[in-house]
Amino acid sequence: MAEKTRIHFEVQRLHLKQTWTIARGSSDHRDNVFVKLERNGITGYGEAAPNPRYEESAEIVLEFLKKAVPVLENNNWFHFVHVNALISSLDSGNYSAKAAIDIALLDWFCKSHAIPLYQYLGLDPQKTPITFYSIGIDSPNRIKEKVRRARDFPILKIKAGLDNDEEVITAVRNVTDKPICIDANEGWRDKQEALEKMQWLETQNVEFVEQPMPANQLSDIAWLREHTELPIIADENVMRARDIPTLAGAFDGINIKLMKAGGIQEALRMIWLAKSFCMKIMLGCMIESSVAISAAAQLSPLADYADLDGNLLIDNDGYSGVTVDHGKLILPEKPGIGATPVTPKD
Ligand code: MG
Repeated sequence: MAEKTRIHFEVQRLHLKQTWTIARGSSDHRDNVFVKLERNGITGYGEAAPNPRYEESAEIVLEFLKKAVPVLENNNWFHFVHVNALISSLDSGNYSAKAAIDIALLDWFCKSHAIPLYQYLGLDPQKTPITFYSIGIDSPNRIKEKVRRARDFPILKIKAGLDNDEEVITAVRNVTDKPICIDANEGWRDKQEALEKMQWLETQNVEFVEQPMPANQLSDIAWLREHTELPIIADENVMRARDIPTLAGAFDGINIKLMKAGGIQEALRMIWLAKSFCMKIMLGCMIESSVAISAAAQLSPLADYADLDGNLLIDNDGYSGVTVDHGKLILPEKPGIGATPVTPKD
């Protein structure tokens, strides 16, 4: 390639404003990997948020990115579909690393055409949904405080899946009667426990329950859906488009995350496939900066629900991008994914 190409990636530790606890465990920080792809004087930004649930780490992401460098150096980025296919074939898995490259390629492509990604996709930026604000598992008093601080958000997502679920939800209900969603993160271990929890939640103004039981208990989840009223959304059960057909009978919708899917292109395939099964679409996230959150937000006019608050949970976001006004996602009128460094280094 004649054009000058620069490929840069580095690990950055994202610090959570508060200890983040879900049914699987707690953390105070996440090590994400940031990618910059530069060619023709245009820089595309990408981000990988590796998650141990999917056997990923920053080190694993870096290893994969090193393998991807020759593919990126020797191919035309305007043909990002083909570049993505070459990157995907380098190795199985590695979806967060693949997502970082795909995000950066599409950011670069749209910037090269001076249009926002939503415009390239033919989407109306006014049609973004309201994003949930997530409340991690905590003591009742701290839950109440978190809920009070989230007063601007019309819908909250409450993390559950431990023995204190009822205590947590009761604490929420002591402070607000706004609708809530419940994410059990696979925490309910058998279908009887899940059934009892769901029947109680039906009385608590709950919109839906996300991933009530472990992903490998699909038939139990299908049974649960038959015996309860609340919609059930898949998260840990669904990574990529090929997972969707077997989930259609067990879930009412799916939580799509760029980091599970391997990028924007696969997320789009998932959206259309799930819609063909009349499933609801949620766009979710890991703990991510405004790079990956802004990228996902570009697709959000296609979603029924958005859970794109990862950047709001950290206190050292190095980028600005999508913003939130009383829960409503506001897409920047900038080319590409709309994310820019807060303090440009070059
Ligand atoms: Mg979830």
